This record gives sequence, structure tokens and C-alpha cells, in this order.
Amino acid sequence: MEKGARALVTIESVAAGGSGVCHVDGMTVFVPQTCPEDQAEIRIDRVKSGCAFGTVTKLLEASPFRRIDFCPVSDRCGGCDLAHISYEKQLTIKRQIVVDALERIGGFTDAPVCETLASPRSMRYRNKMVFPFGRDADGALAGGFYAPSSHSLVPLTDCKQGDETVSRYLAAAIEYLQETGTSLYDELTHRGAARRLFVRLAEGTKEAMVVMTANAKKLKQPELLVEKLLSVPSPYTLTSILFNRHTKADNLLLGKENKVLYGRDYIEDILGGLRFRIAAHSFYQINAPQTENLYNTALSLADLSGHETVLDLYCGIGTISLFAAGQAKRVIGVEIVPSAIENAKENAMRNNIKNAEFILGSAETIAPQLAEKGIRPDVICIDPPRKGADAMALDAIIKMAPEKVVYVSCNPATLARDAKYLCANGYSLIKSIPTDMFPNTSHIECCALLCRNR
Ligand code: SAH
Repeated sequence: MEKGARALVTIESVAAGGSGVCHVDGMTVFVPQTCPEDQAEIRIDRVKSGCAFGTVTKLLEASPFRRIDFCPVSDRCGGCDLAHISYEKQLTIKRQIVVDALERIGGFTDAPVCETLASPRSMRYRNKMVFPFGRDADGALAGGFYAPSSHSLVPLTDCKQGDETVSRYLAAAIEYLQETGTSLYDELTHRGAARRLFVRLAEGTKEAMVVMTANAKKLKQPELLVEKLLSVPSPYTLTSILFNRHTKADNLLLGKENKVLYGRDYIEDILGGLRFRIAAHSFYQINAPQTENLYNTALSLADLSGHETVLDLYCGIGTISLFAAGQAKRVIGVEIVPSAIENAKENAMRNNIKNAEFILGSAETIAPQLAEKGIRPDVICIDPPRKGADAMALDAIIKMAPEKVVYVSCNPATLARDAKYLCANGYSLIKSIPTDMFPNTSHIECCALLCRNR
């Protein structure tokens, strides 16, 4: 097969990463923006050993699972890669991706994977959005999302993933940039100031935080930004406006330093009857109503009786820890981001929870120390970032030998790799429950239960 070749194909499935999968002359070809049962003419763009990548040149027969009109820019925007597929089909696709990962990477046959737990809302569910600034086709200042695998801007229209309020905050910020003549950051030259607008909404309290990130020591006329943002009509109350100084030439969303321009340096949300304080740098799940389901699923897998010690590795602001605290004797949370661990301690205090303690540090250094000290949790919950758990953390878990490991994963591939490791060291994979936190995208969250072999 050669680059530039054309083929007539039927899309068979969707792979991790969101591309449709088909076969041409026995070779697997990945085609983005397609749907199972699409019949299409494709062009081969790239051939690697063992697989190829193509694009649709003509959709000959659209799959019955396709939907239209979800979003006018979904074919160009890198934000949603499954927006063209009906929500019900997305759920079966996600389950299959988990099954495939557990089988291919984890080596599990007949992997125990439940149906995907649907999100209470399949649109307007995101409580956090980050918009890079750039220019639209006419050269006007704009904010939006990047096109797939690129940094070219797709200006925001009204994104169906977030609340309508968010585009109004963005418009206010753009007005401010225009009126103050603030320059735009250029990634290539590392010159210019305004980089991104970060917006976080708390559904439970209706509080909002807006952060302007810029490659600058100070913002010009910050009071004008505050005035413009505060005058945005919104069901949310802006309780935190920050300037984030982001002077490094990296891709991180935020620089290290925040300056409060208005209100506080955190917002609060209510989840499962608990009140959580969330700083800009702290991780917080982006789909609040489904987060409650995710944590309740994790807790139902832990099946606590009130006598257990629970270790919550990668605990963020202590959400899972504090959900678990009411059902356990003792909870220990471990997290690497200082503001998150500070939030976790405050959150325990403010919710009057006395049996939870929090330790700042990486799971791979703290878990071995806890094991060394003789801590033997009954349940260890882990919720690592996409790269999965560090081998040192897994070894410490094995040493602490809990009856149950509840693995909350945002990446089926690393879940499969880590579950395989645990299962080679005395555990069995009992159950996994894909939980859709990210409708219209190929991102997949999954709760898995591993139990120690008797
Ligand atoms: N359970 C929390 C957070 C999950 S996200 C929740 O549901 O909100 C993963 C968390 O792991 C983030 O807070 C991130 O800051 C943290 N983290 C990343 N690498 C880590 C490491 N090596 N050790 C400990 N925590 C880490």
C-alpha cells in the first residue's frame, strides 16, 4: 500500500483515540471522523509498519449511527472526535475500547467489562474550558480550540460541551485584549502576552472562576478585565478572577504563579453533599453530575463496612477520600500538587471529617514509605493521570497487600498494563465499569476492581 492510494472501505469499529478502523488488502487503516458502518472512499495519507492512516475523500453511504447538526465545527475542531456519532453508539464504542485494551494490552481473556454508564447529560457537561487566543480567518482576535493534532485555531462559536456562559466570558476577555492593545502570545517566537482563558464553573454553588494566562509580569489595566467579566450576564457568580503568569515556553495550561485580581484564589463546589474548595492548579473532574456516579461506583466496588483503612493515591483535592471517609475507619490521601493537597486538608476540615489525612508527595515515593512503616490498608484506591501508575507505586501496593484495589482510570491502555502487573502479583481483575465522563470525545473513564487472591 502506498501513500496517495485510494480505496473503497466499510468502517468496522472505532479505535482508542477516536479514529474509525477499516482494512485494505489486509492492512489496518485508521480513518478519523468516521463511524462504524460508514461506506466511504478514502485516501491513504501515511503508511507505517503494520498500519496506515487515511482520510475520507467521499462518504458514499453514511452509517445509521451518524448524527448531524451536533456542532457546526466538529469536523475541524480537535475538542470532540466522536461528536458525529449518536450518543448510544458512543457508549458501546467506549465499552469495546476498554475490552480491546484489557485483551490486547492486559492479556485478559473474557475481560469482565460492564456496559458503559451513560453521563446524566451528554452535552453542556464540561465545567472547565481553556481557550487559547489566536486570530480567526479574517485576522480578528479570537479564542477557541485547536484543530486536531495542530495548534491552528478553530474560533469558538457556542461550544455544546460547555455552559453558554463560557463563550460570554471569552467575548468579554477578547474585548479587554482589544481595548488594551494586549499582544497575543506567539508559540514560535515566545513573544507576546495573552495565552489562554481558563474558565471553571461550579454547578453545585453556581460560582465561577476565570483565569487569564499571559506571558507577562503584569496585565495592562487589570481592573478593566475585572469590570468586563463582572458585567457578563450569567447564572454563575464570578467569585474568582486571576491573572496567571505563564512565562515558560511550554505547553502547560497554567504557569506557576497566580495573582488574584478579584475575589478569592479558589472556587467551591458541592458534590455528594460535601463542599469542596478548588484552586486553579488543583485537578477537579470536569463532568460534575457524572463525577458523583463515578465516585459512588468506586465506593460500591470498595464495599466498605466502616472498619477499613483506605489509601487514596492520586487524591487531588481529596474528593474520593472524603466520599470514602463516611464509610471507613481511616482514610489517607496522597497527591503531588501542593495546592490540591492544601485544598484536600481544608475540605476535610470544612466538612468536619476527622478520619482523613493527606500527604503531599508523589505516589511512587509516599506509597513505598507507607508500606515501609507497616501501613496495611484494606482498600487502595488509585486514580492516576493518563500515563497510569508508576511501577514503584504498584510495587508498594503489592507490598501493602490490600484485599481490594479500586482503580479509577482515564486511560484504558494504562489501566490494562497496570491491571496485568497487579494480576501477575497476586490479584484478579473482578469487574470493570466504563463510566462516561467525556461524551462526544473518545476519552474513557473506567472503574475497575481487583481483589487479592486467597
Ligand atoms: N482522584 C482525584 C484526582 C484524580 S486526577 C479526583 O477524582 O479529583 C489525578 C491526580 O493525580 C491529579 O490531582 C494529579 O495532580 C495527581 N498526580 C499526578 N501525578 C502524580 C504522582 N506521581 N503522584 C501523586 N499524584 C499525582
